[in-house]
Amino acid sequence: MAQVRVQTSEEIFDFIVVGSGAGGGPLAANLALAGFSVLLLEAGDEHSCLYYSIPIMQAYASEDAAMRWDFFVRHYDDAASAHADPKYVPDRGGVWYPRGSTLGGSTAISAMVTIYPHPGDWNRLAELTGDDSWNAESMRGLVTRLEAWRGVDAAPLPDDDEAARDEKARHGLHGWLGTTRADPKVGGRDERFLDVIGAMEQTARDRFGIDEQISLPRDPNAADTPVGFAGMTFIPVAVADGQRVGSRERIQSVRSQVPDLLSVRTDALVTRVVFDGERAIGVEYLSGARLYAAAPQDAGPSSAPVVVRARREVILAGGTFNTPQLLKLSGIGPADELTALGIDVVVDAPGVGRNLHDRYEVAVVTELDADYPIFDGAALDIPADPADGDALYSEWRDAHDGPYTTNGTLAAIVAKSTAAQDDSDLIVFSLPIDFRGYYPGYAKDAVAHRNRLSILILKAHTDNRAGTVTLSSADPRDVPEIAFRYFDEGDAFEADLDGVVDGIEIARDIVGHLRLAKPVAELLPGQGVSDRRGLRDFVRSRAWGHHACGTAKIGRDDDPYAVLDGDFRVRGVTGLRVVDASVFPDIPGFFIASAVYLISEKASDVIIAEHRR
Ligand SMILES: Cc1cc2nc3c(=O)[nH]c(=O)nc-3n(C[C@H](O)[C@H](O)[C@H](O)COP(=O)(O)OP(=O)(O)OC[C@H]3O[C@@H](n4cnc5c(N)ncnc54)[C@H](O)[C@@H]3O)c2cc1C
Repeated sequence: MAQVRVQTSEEIFDFIVVGSGAGGGPLAANLALAGFSVLLLEAGDEHSCLYYSIPIMQAYASEDAAMRWDFFVRHYDDAASAHADPKYVPDRGGVWYPRGSTLGGSTAISAMVTIYPHPGDWNRLAELTGDDSWNAESMRGLVTRLEAWRGVDAAPLPDDDEAARDEKARHGLHGWLGTTRADPKVGGRDERFLDVIGAMEQTARDRFGIDEQISLPRDPNAADTPVGFAGMTFIPVAVADGQRVGSRERIQSVRSQVPDLLSVRTDALVTRVVFDGERAIGVEYLSGARLYAAAPQDAGPSSAPVVVRARREVILAGGTFNTPQLLKLSGIGPADELTALGIDVVVDAPGVGRNLHDRYEVAVVTELDADYPIFDGAALDIPADPADGDALYSEWRDAHDGPYTTNGTLAAIVAKSTAAQDDSDLIVFSLPIDFRGYYPGYAKDAVAHRNRLSILILKAHTDNRAGTVTLSSADPRDVPEIAFRYFDEGDAFEADLDGVVDGIEIARDIVGHLRLAKPVAELLPGQGVSDRRGLRDFVRSRAWGHHACGTAKIGRDDDPYAVLDGDFRVRGVTGLRVVDASVFPDIPGFFIASAVYLISEKASDVIIAEHRR
């Protein structure tokens, strides 16, 4: 083991948490509420704006230069495959992959969809770790603690009344994370929205033989949702009182409750963990605005490196790209990669930065014969002059009500692809805009036409694990190299690819069920792409993801690539844990933020129990 020089500092906290996103924010808050002194270090600032608050503005939030970091990731190492994607940005050598860098992390710029993982996701972790507290039943207890559900419930099933439905659904009502769904009244305000929702319902009934007695949509977060469920669901979102909620609100609330215990320092880029031998005893950071190279705006002046100390533990929660970078910069990673960059090796950990994977998404985009009437007179942005009579915006501004309280999704179909194991692995959902994935400028393009329908296909439970996060230099302000190695560049791909193609067929079926809106043209994949072979090519070149995970995975003692044990401890050192999307050996469920919130709650319990002994 190499000795790393230790600088002393007057400042000492029980815990230091790095990163305020879905993993770090709630954890820091819980530790402070438990009576520990906590320093939360966040590279971004606390920028607040209407794009943050208004749920429908989520795409603009993700492009807001004050809240985002720009990563450009390689989907393919092969140049021809990479260039086949119109989203590829040649100057940057990759496809744009935004992440939130602000108080709240990516939950500040996300689309807020909150669908809990499948029970099987947790049970597999329980089996892997030999720890029953990971099982689905225990994790459901954490859902109940986390959530404050305020949505309109699904109608009871034929044999249930409302009380029986609620008892089986097991929603939480008193947690810190407000959740709801689009009020059904919103859909009813535009006959074309109703047409899309109706087409989804009829497609679900026809494909899955769902009897008219069963009311649709169902609630995907109800605890009694059958394994392998196939049907129509609404989309739950993290919205309360018509506004976005996420990690930021949890931090702000707890900071005002226990200001002496929770210290939040923004514009603080952590550059390495400081060790005393094998024990993590603090971190070094630079103070200054936008110091990381992924920040789109110019960097402000940087302080000299500052060292703060942790009496008990350091917890990394910088996210899937930054946590492995920070571990490596701190000497924990593949020895050859570190040595080549002159970084002293603390632990030769070959798993750090490996196992990067994501979900695959594509869109079927259709031009319809007429605009959605509800958009008439709406800027579909913050109006330049708020007095100019934009009714949808005014409704949100004056009462936090109406369509702008939603994230824009109309409804979803959940299904099993031909590649599925036990759990459903497809979610197909509709948006009344033109959305083709993430690229710079996508938010404006999405609403340039008001007669578009995008049906998104998201394939869960990806097999391919071939992605990597590799240091590009030993400079902590540099961005690492991120390579996903999609589909045939990966270690398994047939099932992933076929599963997405199955989803496209469902999406086309939905369009075929429209009754009022007349499709004028299929813009993507396009009528010319009709057979499965053509669709596979389309998916290879157009797919994207935004739920990256797995780069510091939990695993068994005998797995050389396991970075963490089942209690989030970094193997080979003491006093250091990781609690963010990096920890998942296998991507959970359909949408990852709720899974990260839940591991944050779980880690809080584990750490508090250990330090109270
Ligand atoms: C545009 C977009 C839409 C999304 N929509 C959804 C959705 O609808 N539903 C869903 O479930 N998921 C969604 N996601 C994904 C979800 O938001 C993330 O997966 C989740 O927030 C990851 O949590 P995390 O704690 O791992 O990292 P993050 O939430 O990304 O937080 C990491 C934080 O750490 C900070 N940080 C990193 N390195 C350092 C450092 N060295 N020093 C100090 N601070 C550092 C960053 O600034 C950031 O604030 C979306 C993501 C994006 C970008």
